[in-house]
Amino acid sequence: MAIRLSKYVERLNDSATLAVAEKARRLRAAGVDVVAFGAGEPDFDTPQHIKDAAVKALAAGDTKYTNPVSGKTALREAICDYTRKYGGVDYKPEQVCVAAGGKDALHLGFAAVLDPGDEVVLPVPYWVSFPEHVKMAGATPVYVQGDRQRGGKIAPPQLAAAITPRTRVFVINSPSNPTGAAYSREEMLEFARVLRDTQVLVFSDEIYHRLAFAEPVVTSFAALPGMYERTVTFNSASKTYAMTGWRIGWACGPELIIRGMSRITSQTTSGATSFVQTALVAALNGDQSCVEEMRQAYRRRCDVMHGGLSRLRGFSCPKPDGAYYCFPDVSKTFASLGVVDASGFAEAVLERAHVALVPGNAFGWDTHVRLSFATSEGQIEEGLRRLGKLFGG
Ligand code: PLP
Repeated sequence: MAIRLSKYVERLNDSATLAVAEKARRLRAAGVDVVAFGAGEPDFDTPQHIKDAAVKALAAGDTKYTNPVSGKTALREAICDYTRKYGGVDYKPEQVCVAAGGKDALHLGFAAVLDPGDEVVLPVPYWVSFPEHVKMAGATPVYVQGDRQRGGKIAPPQLAAAITPRTRVFVINSPSNPTGAAYSREEMLEFARVLRDTQVLVFSDEIYHRLAFAEPVVTSFAALPGMYERTVTFNSASKTYAMTGWRIGWACGPELIIRGMSRITSQTTSGATSFVQTALVAALNGDQSCVEEMRQAYRRRCDVMHGGLSRLRGFSCPKPDGAYYCFPDVSKTFASLGVVDASGFAEAVLERAHVALVPGNAFGWDTHVRLSFATSEGQIEEGLRRLGKLFGG
């Protein structure tokens, strides 16, 4: 019998970031010492007080379906307090939907508002899953090319030019995966001015909002004048609290959209894991010094990695404002490696220097590669030494 996949699945790409991690894992299993700059997850363990809260919740029988599916009331209240404190935005618990990670929350958000034929304005380079989420909803990504000199940021007139009567959503991700670039409040205000007289929603992915280097938090788009009613803010415990494997994230926004997301949740996952929700309350309400310690560590590592990459021949890399990625343009090295794009570059570097990184093709730019510095300074220095041997500088 010939098995056939749905058109829905055929339209999707596999996650390229996970594919590189898998290739590096196979090399390692074969005994090769690989320096991994591929994975977009903190190397830190989840802080102990958060783990303790999960263990305590489990011991107390916090093992049942949660009600409502959009998240336990205590958690949605904690998210409201947290968002007021770190985003300067006021929400009611009815405006919060908890999900199995930021990725799940984004998927629910797109599914809740998009119809086939709708358009979503997406700055390039973008986080790998944005176009796929848009396509899953049957809608069309409209790509806006970022400025290579400004860390891939787009300018407000470009946003204005991309908006058509079919535009439903503008996606902003600041600080960005893959560039680490963050928009200033002034730049965001310019976007807000463009959007003010339109019917366009904003999906603001603020997953790295507490991992900015110049200031402890970046401006939340919903806090800008006139933007609250049209913005859905996405966040997660993954990066802020080093909780990638726990799979918990959330969205805050207009009640109608949140209700739509909850309705989908009620027919899919039935909500995020019960004791993980309780642990997230402990994370959000508890001591925040762990976040500051991790932010400072990323800032130091950023200096080491960015400094090292800037010395490599053929690499050009704007300094990231936050998150934990460098995204250099490596196209000037292609000829010497005998490759034609970033995928070829990533394969050559993995084979010849045993350094794993992610080709920019997955993020919309095949001239760039992403290196994550969510790893120890020792590993960063070793990776740079290997790249130095290959490229000089
Ligand atoms: N958004 C961005 C920009 C990300 O980089 C990631 C993870 O890498 C996510 C969303 C999803 O994170 P999670 O599903 O682990 O919360």
